[in-house]
Amino acid sequence: MTRMTGTVTVEGGRLLFDGVDVAGLAGRVDTPFFLYSQARIAANVARLRRAFASRHSASRVFFASKACSNLWFLEQIRAAGAGAEVNSGGELWKALRAGFSPAQLVFNGVAKSREEIEEAVTAGIGGIVADSLCELRRIGEVARELGIPARVLPRVDVNVSGGTHPGLETASGGKAGIDRSEALDAFRLVAASEHLCLEGLHLHIGSQITTTEPYLRALGVALDLIDEVERELAVTVPALDLGGGFAVAYRERPAHPEGDYFFTGLTVEDYAAAICDLVARRRPALALWVEPGRSVATDTAILVTRVESEKTKRLRDHRGRVLAEDHWLLVDAGYNTFFDPVLYGWYYPLVSVSRPDSPADGSFRVAGPLCDGGDVFGGDDATEYRRLPVATAPGDLLAFYDAGAYTLELMTSYNARPTAAAYAVTEGAGLLRIRAAQSRDDLVALDEATPLPG
Ligand code: PLP
Repeated sequence: MTRMTGTVTVEGGRLLFDGVDVAGLAGRVDTPFFLYSQARIAANVARLRRAFASRHSASRVFFASKACSNLWFLEQIRAAGAGAEVNSGGELWKALRAGFSPAQLVFNGVAKSREEIEEAVTAGIGGIVADSLCELRRIGEVARELGIPARVLPRVDVNVSGGTHPGLETASGGKAGIDRSEALDAFRLVAASEHLCLEGLHLHIGSQITTTEPYLRALGVALDLIDEVERELAVTVPALDLGGGFAVAYRERPAHPEGDYFFTGLTVEDYAAAICDLVARRRPALALWVEPGRSVATDTAILVTRVESEKTKRLRDHRGRVLAEDHWLLVDAGYNTFFDPVLYGWYYPLVSVSRPDSPADGSFRVAGPLCDGGDVFGGDDATEYRRLPVATAPGDLLAFYDAGAYTLELMTSYNARPTAAAYAVTEGAGLLRIRAAQSRDDLVALDEATPLPG
């Protein structure tokens, strides 16, 4: 699997993650667990920053913290020199706790509460993205009441499909952003307010955008709008925030000839080159902001899970004739630990940790432990089956690759299964636990029957 190249190696029949023996670690801690690589986080941030800054010097990278807002992870992002994009008062609070300066933060979200806006304005963050005219007015009111100017970026729905999973489309008539027909009014409102400072225009076309073409169309719409705003309102739009969405190759090749959400042949340099070329041609002085999440975090972690049980089941027709025979592996990580596979039907590569030298010559259906018939992982190449060594059996360890983004964030304790721990291989401090597993007590810690005062 190419995605984890350099981070995962096999030596002497052991699968190593950043040099750490994964089976050895699984002997010391409970499964399932996530294992992160500090070196990979730093390398990914550096690569993205370089990809944009080398082509457009006025560029800034804000890590989309919704992809992973673990405090240690955010500290690594900050240390690597990126800012952060936050989506709630909670994410704003976590980013400040992780040591980001307010100027390094951009605040998105379609329904910010007055309290969240107050927190952002009081902190003086780098940019508050206004998702509607209604919200823009609210930000203006809060800024006036506090006597602190708010730096804003109206988010415009540029009406461009990203060609991605329908649940991840965000700029073609969905809930996010200001309708194009109201965009000029939004900028007029900012220009007329003493309490709002225009920081730029924001757009985000979705996540896992596997080609550059939607970015170029979105950029075209945005640059036309910036021209119009500057012409009509005699203001300068200093920056364009292009959102995130750069795709990751979860598969080595597309599963369908017509394309596949889980495959891209592009690198972050390809995205940066296409985007920066167009900006250089049309608006060389415009500051360019990007908010990548997935492309920073995905290949920074694996999820290690243990096979608990196995069985063979036969699918029969109404006469009892056997139509198919499935070999099942039941593992200890279900969608309580790994929600994306059920939320979006997401594909993650799966390998054997216990038998890293064996060929993947067996075909299995793989499912989690939850009492839910939907707690089943999809297969390789858009089939229902995973290829793993034929001898794979209870007690074996497996690892899902590319498990660093949108995973810790989405864990739940469904079926009263405590959420999993996360560990990290670091350069100076060795192995760290960066998130504790929940305990049994945690499962009931918030349950109570307390009378409400008054
Ligand atoms: N910015 C905004 C506004 C988003 O909604 C998202 C996620 O969809 C991102 C950035 C990050 O996207 P990705 O993780 O695909 O880079």
